[in-house]
Amino acid sequence: MSTERTQAIRLFEVGPRDGLQNEDAILSVESRVELIHKLVDAGSRDIEIGSFVHPKWLPQMAASDEVARAIDRKPGVNYWGLVPNMRGLERAMRAEVSHIAVFVSASETHNHKNLNRSIEESVAGVAEILAEARPAGLTARAYISMVFGCPYEGEIDFSDVLELGDRLIDMGADVIALGDTTGVGTPLQVRRECARALERWGVERVALHLHDTRGMGVTNAMSAFDVGVRAFDSSVGGIGGCPFAPGAAGNLGTEDLLYLLESLGADAGVSLEAVSEIALWLQDVNHINVPSRCTNYLRSQRADRG
Ligand code: MG
Repeated sequence: MSTERTQAIRLFEVGPRDGLQNEDAILSVESRVELIHKLVDAGSRDIEIGSFVHPKWLPQMAASDEVARAIDRKPGVNYWGLVPNMRGLERAMRAEVSHIAVFVSASETHNHKNLNRSIEESVAGVAEILAEARPAGLTARAYISMVFGCPYEGEIDFSDVLELGDRLIDMGADVIALGDTTGVGTPLQVRRECARALERWGVERVALHLHDTRGMGVTNAMSAFDVGVRAFDSSVGGIGGCPFAPGAAGNLGTEDLLYLLESLGADAGVSLEAVSEIALWLQDVNHINVPSRCTNYLRSQRADRG
């Protein structure tokens, strides 16, 4: 690993989607748009702005079309929308969302419980979405969840993850986001499997979506960085919880990831201080619990001084 020259990191901010969709609080369209604007001002260049899922399933993500339309779009910023099916794709395209995320689980049981269909059925759905989206000029990332293990099935064979990723890339996915959905991954495992993914697909196609459920988030990011991963998902404030374990930490916090990356001489182009202020705003104004360590440290410092 060289820290002599700055390493560029692509940071994918999932707070307005993966974060908010797992919180009890339902933010207004205005507040969601304000959150996205604040994140862009903090330097975010890839932001997941919402999900085009039916609002019956996720009321937190209702009116993602309105959010997409209300954003004051800045050049050089990619605004991503999660697309679960063809109906969602239509909504995303009507709202002029040009970057989409699709998803499938590496665990058959999780896929059934989450989506009520088999992995193969999900893959067929993704193929249908990408067959429409790619010729229309949309960019797509594909999440594979539970890549390092699953609460229902235990171990997941990473060779199966790689084969699934191959198929998604063949269908037109630009990036595979490897999801440690319940934060079960460990540093040596992350090092080993990320090296395999990088060798197979190349650095431009690999992103890592870590969770901090067991406190391994930053350590796993370090392992992945060490073997060459240069794209990471994270959530402002670490919001999002864990849908499988109420009260547990969820997505790796953007602030904690940024603190690590800065120490490694890696530049994500995002201000740690600015993201911390956004996290405090989420907590103080929108009453969302913020687990990120860096932001809680900042809060305690201010309380001492106050
Ligand atoms: Mg997540």
